Amino acid sequence: MECRNQSILVLAPHTDDGEFGCGGTIARFVREGNRVWYIAFSDAEKSMPEEYPKDQLRKELAQAMKIFDVDEDHYQIHSYPVREFPLHRQSILDLMISIKKKIDPDIVFMPSSFDTHQDHKTICEEGFRAFKDKTLLGYEVPWNNLTFPTQAFVILDETDLDKKIKALKCYETQKDRFYASEDFIRSLARVRGTQIGHHFCEVFEIIRWVLR
Ligand SMILES: [Zn+2]
Repeated sequence: MECRNQSILVLAPHTDDGEFGCGGTIARFVREGNRVWYIAFSDAEKSMPEEYPKDQLRKELAQAMKIFDVDEDHYQIHSYPVREFPLHRQSILDLMISIKKKIDPDIVFMPSSFDTHQDHKTICEEGFRAFKDKTLLGYEVPWNNLTFPTQAFVILDETDLDKKIKALKCYETQKDRFYASEDFIRSLARVRGTQIGHHFCEVFEIIRWVLR
């Protein structure tokens, strides 16, 4: 099924989650002329290593969005403190509802319901409440997930995967994380592609499917 002329919203608890979870899909949707919005809920100011300026993640996100051709007025970064999202649930829900009024997305990408990180869980649960009448797809974050149902596949071409890798390389502050390797990202896309006989895919949990 092709996806054309749709509004896509990506909810990322922390700045690079959306790129890891669905960066290839973002690249494909932009390439096919859909409208893509990206909301990050934390700029991790408090946990930024001293050698970096406090707004470093904002700069890195801006660079990543440039790789995807997502315009400045299509992404936001908020300042909820890392690991404390559960304390801010209502404010997060209110923010999502205001975003929904503005964007009215067709498909929302968010952390899956199998994600165990407390901030990711909060975004998934409040995302479900805010966008319950939309198609909701949970993205794969293998190092957080208890397990993962590979229910929905998005086929990527080489250029989509390259953009995902390039966008993730913009996150200089995260480069030492063990999962931030090109090899891992390519391998996962190959595994997911092989499941359905294609070169590269990203997979998603279907949290809700709404056919309009
Ligand atoms: Zn995260």
